[in-house]
This record gives sequence, structure tokens and C-alpha cells, in this order.
Amino acid sequence: MSTCDFFASSYVDARARFLTAAGGAGARLTSHRLPGQLGPDGEPLSIDVALLAGETPPRAMLLLISGTHGVEGFCGSGVQVGYLTDRLHDALPPGTATLLIHALNPYGFAWRRRVNEDSIDLNRNFRDFSAPLPDGSAYEAVHDLLVPAEWDGPVREQADAALLQRIAADGIPAYQALLQRGQYTRPTGLFYGGTEPCWSNRMLRQLLREHIPAGLAQLAVLDIHTGLGPMGYGEPIHAGDGYARAVRWYGPEVTRSSEGEAPAALDEGLHEGLLAALALEDQLPAAGQRSASAPISGAMVGAFRALEPATAVTYLALEFGTRPILEVLGALRADSWLHAVPGRDTAHRAPIQAQMQQAFYVDTPAWKAAVYGRAADFVLRAGRGLAAGMAAAAAGTPAPPPPLATGIALAGRPGPLGPW
Ligand SMILES: [Zn+2]
Repeated sequence: MSTCDFFASSYVDARARFLTAAGGAGARLTSHRLPGQLGPDGEPLSIDVALLAGETPPRAMLLLISGTHGVEGFCGSGVQVGYLTDRLHDALPPGTATLLIHALNPYGFAWRRRVNEDSIDLNRNFRDFSAPLPDGSAYEAVHDLLVPAEWDGPVREQADAALLQRIAADGIPAYQALLQRGQYTRPTGLFYGGTEPCWSNRMLRQLLREHIPAGLAQLAVLDIHTGLGPMGYGEPIHAGDGYARAVRWYGPEVTRSSEGEAPAALDEGLHEGLLAALALEDQLPAAGQRSASAPISGAMVGAFRALEPATAVTYLALEFGTRPILEVLGALRADSWLHAVPGRDTAHRAPIQAQMQQAFYVDTPAWKAAVYGRAADFVLRAGRGLAAGMAAAAAGTPAPPPPLATGIALAGRPGPLGPW
């Protein structure tokens, strides 16, 4: 079985491969069906969960999540199928369980959307909705340009021209940050966070309650995403607590995103390269750019704060680059327009769905090889980190020196913002 065989061409295909691989690995499987929704071919939509654990309660656990952002599940599912097929769990230290959550947002995966059945961006939905919402005025100013009333003709042309003017004035990083931080006022818009915890949010919390045993010392989370950064490169983006631990485990290339942080300084090199970027050419930042994080509201890492304080959580999003950023954002605009009117009757439907899949999944052997190799490497890094963490806990001492230094220090960080 080659690496390419881990990756599927549809949600149905991905689910079948995952269930087969999980069965072959001897995992305990459970499925949680999304109520009231079907896929494009009438198929049921489910979050499938595979647990690999011994008879005694584990002291450490690796959690692999795919499809937080629906269509990005083509990548994460392939990683999970590879993990199970190649028995990567055999490389983890004794006493470590693996929990694989397949298609956390099955609706988005099946319908090739990044958002869920309510057009909600799951990674903006884990916020306290009783607290005041973030200021949405900046997004309000561009919403009608991003999602114009018509996709053809002068309305769209004027919207595109106005957006390009804005990008030229402010720079791509500012444009990206404006969108990526999330918004809570426009359900038909991009990066919409919702008004209450959605089904996938509630399900993840339930799964954590069910599967994370009391007394677990260490939990390593690898949440697989796509759409940001150079094609095929997996940027390790840490969120939540334990950044220093993440760097010890995974190496110096770990970047950081913390909810509520100030926006990072904009990269002038990128701005100078605006014309090239507008032509959808290379989007690598200038060498020496420091790592930066967008102030994302409602990120999923918030769900892990409900775990017992004794469980040290090390959350990492592995963000794999696909296409140039404006191409990806263009696909998200098209997808939002398509769904802004329920059941929109348009010949654009099939091309937009294909555009979305291509924006978040590069269907080439080289990309899949890069993705899987990188992910497998991070599984092994997680295993070494978990072993060190368990050893330190057993000895009653603070965390030991770095268990590894295998991170590849890049001259220039791959993405100005993250996680996606
Ligand atoms: Zn994502």
C-alpha cells in the first residue's frame, strides 16, 4: 500500500478507508451521527472515533483530529489512515493510548466546505458566548465586497476591484488577519463563529469527557489543517498553554497562536511582493520574518481547558500549505457566495465545490508524501515528548531537558498567521 492510498477522493471514501484501517489495527470504534443532515449522495454523516489502548488506564495519550475544517479532512484523514495502517502507535512509549477523531466536521468534509452545516467556522466557535463579542466593524466594512450579491457582471467586478485596492493599500497580511480573526455578525460571511456552541463543538467536548481518563498525565493533540503556507510544508502552530513544552517536544520551528494576542507586526517583504502575490505566485515570506500569530477568537483549544488540571495538554495544529493565500481566500469567497442563499440555483455550484477541494487539498503524490512524512515525524516527536513528560512526572521533577532537537529551523517562517 503506497502513501497515496491513504488519501481519499470523497468523504464516503475517506470514511471507508478510516474504518477499514481502524479495524485492521484493532481499534475500538464508535460513530456519532450528525442529526438531520446527509451528504451529497444521501450518505449519513458521522464523526468516527478510534481508540487504541491497552487494558490498564493509559498515563499518556496522543489525540489525532481530522476535518475540523471539513474539506481540510482530505489531508487529515489520509494522515490518520496512514497512522493506523503503518501502526505508528507501536512507536509510542508504553502506557500511551491513541485516540483518532475522524471528520470532526463531517458535513463540511462531505460537501467540500470549510465550515459546518450552520456555515460556522468550528475553530472560531469555542468561545464564551455569554461574554461580549469581539468588535466586528472591520469585517463589516468588507463583507459586501467579499460576498457580493451577484457572482457575474459589474457587481462582482466592482467588489473585486475594491478588494484589490484595499489589499494594495494595507497589504496581504492585514487583509488575511482581518478575515482570519473571525466574526460573529454575518452568518453568510467568511470565518463566521456562530452564536452558540455547534454540534461538532459539543461532540468534541463529549468525546473528551468520554475518552480522556482521570489521572492522565500527558495529552498530545495533533489537529491536522490545510490552506496556509508553502505547498506541502506543515507548520506546527501551538495554541493554549505549554508553549515551552511544545518547543521542547517538537523543536524550534513551533510557532505560536494565542487567543487574544495582539496582531503581529506586518511583514514588509510580503507587502513589497504584492504584485507577484496578486498574480498568485510564490507567497513565501521574506527570510528572517519572525513567527506571527493572528488573534483568533473562539479557537478549538479552548475545549481542552475543561480537562483536569493534572492533565498537561500540548496542542499543536499541523497546518499544511496548499495554494497561494489569495487563491485560497478566493475559494472561500466563492463558497460563501454559493451558500449565502439557501439552495442557490446556479451553474457555479460544481465548479465552486471543485475550487474548494483544490484550495485545501493538493491531489498529487508529492504533496501527499510530504504531508504524511511530516505528520509521521511529528507523531514520533510527540512520542518522545510524552515519554519525557511521563518520566518527569514519575520522578516528581520539573520537565527534563529537551528530548530532541530535530526541528528544522527555517530561515523564514512559512506563514505570517495561524492557525487557519
Ligand atoms: Zn483549518
